[in-house]
Amino acid sequence: MTQQYELSELIRSDNFIDGKWVASAGGKRFDVTNPATGEVIAQIADSDAADARAATDAAARAFPGWRDTLPRDRAAVLHRWHALMVANADALGRLISLEQGKPLAEGRGEVMYGASYVAWFADEATRIYGDIIPQQQRGKRMSAIKEPVGIVAAITPWNFPLAMIARKIAPALAAGCTVVGKPAEDTPLTALALVMLAHEAGVPAGVLNLISASRENAGPAVGDWLADSRVRKITFTGSTPVGKYLARESAGTLKKLSLELGGNAPFIVFDDADLDAAVTGMLAAKFRNGGQTCVCPNRVYVQSGVYERFADLLATRVAALKVAPATDPAAQIGPMINARAIDKIARHVDDAVSRGVRVLTGGKRLPELGPNYYAPTVLADASPDMQLSCEETFGPVVPLFRFDHEAEAIHAANDTPFGLASYFYSQDVRRIDRVARQLEAGIVGINEGALASEAAPFGGVKESGYGREGSKYGLDDYLSIKYLCQGGLE
Ligand code: ADP
Repeated sequence: MTQQYELSELIRSDNFIDGKWVASAGGKRFDVTNPATGEVIAQIADSDAADARAATDAAARAFPGWRDTLPRDRAAVLHRWHALMVANADALGRLISLEQGKPLAEGRGEVMYGASYVAWFADEATRIYGDIIPQQQRGKRMSAIKEPVGIVAAITPWNFPLAMIARKIAPALAAGCTVVGKPAEDTPLTALALVMLAHEAGVPAGVLNLISASRENAGPAVGDWLADSRVRKITFTGSTPVGKYLARESAGTLKKLSLELGGNAPFIVFDDADLDAAVTGMLAAKFRNGGQTCVCPNRVYVQSGVYERFADLLATRVAALKVAPATDPAAQIGPMINARAIDKIARHVDDAVSRGVRVLTGGKRLPELGPNYYAPTVLADASPDMQLSCEETFGPVVPLFRFDHEAEAIHAANDTPFGLASYFYSQDVRRIDRVARQLEAGIVGINEGALASEAAPFGGVKESGYGREGSKYGLDDYLSIKYLCQGGLE
């Protein structure tokens, strides 16, 4: 029987190092709050460099044993972890909603989404093949084998408290790496609960270590990993400035990096699009997690012939979205994560209004619900000089830009340092082929707004980062290739 826990039993407040729950070395704690109410949910370990070092020491001791575990035995542990996640999907989903604010259905959906990566990489663990290289010289045999890179440091954001860390830990463990991790300070509880379940699933002591830290201590704690040559890889999802900082600071020990950074995704609607499908796709892509995902469309380009109709259809659907805390089962949009987030959204909308956008719906905070709520918003007549055109808003705001020609839309879509997700709607097969090839992005949604899948390679180009998560490519980031050359065979 797979153990099922109450939500309260899943809340952990200490670090998990070497198979044990331990307070931070300095004994400090910080508050984790519910973004819907501001209430403190837990006071948890505020770690610094000493805790990070202890985690690395444990991961280093555990590495040889885990590396040499048979792949099918690693797979079995991951499958048990997956089963525990699924059995506890309700409680984990409620924990996500509690600390992150997303509606309950989305919280539970995130558990299943994160769990799907664990099942996927459990299977992939048994398929790490190498190559026998065709013989080049008599008496010599050459082959290439794949080995785990070593200790992996995983640093994750708050928008998907479970899925982001699961899709880093699962491939790392599948590959035979050991892990040290630090979740975001806003949402560490889900990650700690996940680690508790991993331990129960049979992940050996030291193989998976997680420390939590406040924003102030994130730098010193993670800094210890950046400088430590035993840590061979950093896998990070978060903002572009922090990603660049990690790349710079880890250069001293030349670590392998996977960086999944900001998106600023374009969404293009051509005159020949199925408009109902485009509106539905926009709602799916934009309003998941209240617009707080790195693949949310941030700039929407609509061709002149359908501009007003698309704007009307979209504004009607957006105005009907239910904004409420996760405790309301009808909620479709919850609170934003914190004051910093809501201030940025308000700044972007105010700037756009001052530069002449038409507010079709929303455009305001909802103080009657709480300090972190913002009304789902559609803005017409957006222009490239507005802040929301060049910065990711990360909230429920859709700015509509007008264009006349295909080339103009592609130029505008690519006119950004970022290149994670992109979307377009068209029913012309030749245009679909042309546009898909020209968009500078790691991910292209074609007549589709829901792109997430553990079977697909997720990642960006340009300043959205590098590396891929999920799919058959997702293990490569955790492996290095060793070339074996054996002579004297004749
Ligand atoms: P956001 O702005 O969405 O919070 P961040 O990139 O700031 O995104 O945060 C993503 C993750 O990076 C979090 O776990 C956060 O604690 C961590 N982080 C932020 N600043 C630093 C830093 N200077 N060093 C290491 N980690 C950091």
